Amino acid sequence: MTSEQASTEHGKHGFETRAIHAGYEPDPTTGAVIPPIFATSTYKQDGVGGMRGGYEYSRSGNPTRTALEGNIAALEQGERGFAFASGLAAEDTLIRALTRPGDHVVIPDDAYGGTYRLVDKVAQPWGLAYDAAPVSDVDAVRAAIRPGTTKLVWVETPTNPLLNIGDIEALAAVAHEAGALLVVDNTFASSYLQQPLTLGADVVVHSTTKYAGGHSDVVGGALVVRDLDLAEKLAFFQNSIGGVAGPFDAWLVLRGLKTLALRMERHSDNAERVVEFLTSHPGVEQVIYPGLAEHPGHAVAARQMKRFGGIVSFRLKAGEQAALDVCAATELFTLGESLGGVESLIEHPGRMTHASVVGTDLEVPADLVRLSVGIETADDLVADLDQALAQVLGRA
Ligand SMILES: *Cc1c(COP(=O)(O)O)cnc(C)c1O
Repeated sequence: MTSEQASTEHGKHGFETRAIHAGYEPDPTTGAVIPPIFATSTYKQDGVGGMRGGYEYSRSGNPTRTALEGNIAALEQGERGFAFASGLAAEDTLIRALTRPGDHVVIPDDAYGGTYRLVDKVAQPWGLAYDAAPVSDVDAVRAAIRPGTTKLVWVETPTNPLLNIGDIEALAAVAHEAGALLVVDNTFASSYLQQPLTLGADVVVHSTTKYAGGHSDVVGGALVVRDLDLAEKLAFFQNSIGGVAGPFDAWLVLRGLKTLALRMERHSDNAERVVEFLTSHPGVEQVIYPGLAEHPGHAVAARQMKRFGGIVSFRLKAGEQAALDVCAATELFTLGESLGGVESLIEHPGRMTHASVVGTDLEVPADLVRLSVGIETADDLVADLDQALAQVLGRA
């Protein structure tokens, strides 16, 4: 079965049903309920060109990867999905498929550091121009577009780590007006909380390393589109460049997606508890979470997201050193990069994930701490932050 068939067939089902069933039918020879890890590079042909199910060579297609590609396409309500070895491999393939030297793209002014590096240090030297604009300001994005030359308007929402919110519907209109495509990096929200293709986006990007995989045990990426011409182009570039997800990695991500809905509900519950605690803490200058009524993107987020997710950022009144010390003082929140796993993580964006943008327009505040709130017992997470803040700031 092609991923295309598998994703549309489950179109009438709810998210949780699609997460568990889309992309794969029990194996016809054994009845295996879960797709095998097809650890094979090549496939026996029944006579020259007589391929079974279209499989010829595993860079071009592998049944475990097909299952994942069909599944994630169904979750995003797209027509076709493509799975890659990492989020950045997906992004690189997308940029090379849809832009040429002399073209221009607009990226978020607080883009994921690796996306910024890819555009600034890899694509720009090949002749791709770019401007950075705040995704929360539709007029600023419109002003950054060069009609005719801008091919992609690239948006993250929520952004990393400042959790700015872009209005996907409005940004799609602005991009389309100028003949550009809207790309939405949906990594932070996950396919459960937000489905950008249903709001007018043309391409969804994921680092499946994060919530999609969900267990911090795999690095992967994905693209999902609705338009079949666009899908053909991406399929050609995916095969030509070759940054594909291996079968075991594809299997891990597919396994992760089955519980995405449950995990995102708990991530959101726990994040709300953490936000409630931090908001009332005297040492905290500001809590940044789109679920807070005072967050400038709250109304848009409430409209386009099912809930507000598991990422919480906060600033410390005592400044950078206190932020660094808090990151070192937690016991359950593990100090580390990445996000979206079942375990809670803490990090200092200025010195860690966003160190490469220090000194640029994309620099983040030095007193900022980012939490990826996991699915442990909420009381334990709050108690851990309480003791860490007390260690660093003294009892209030
Ligand atoms: C991690 C991440 C990426 C890059 O994905 P990798 O799997 O690390 O290559 C892209 N966008 C966002 C928002 C991310 O968090």
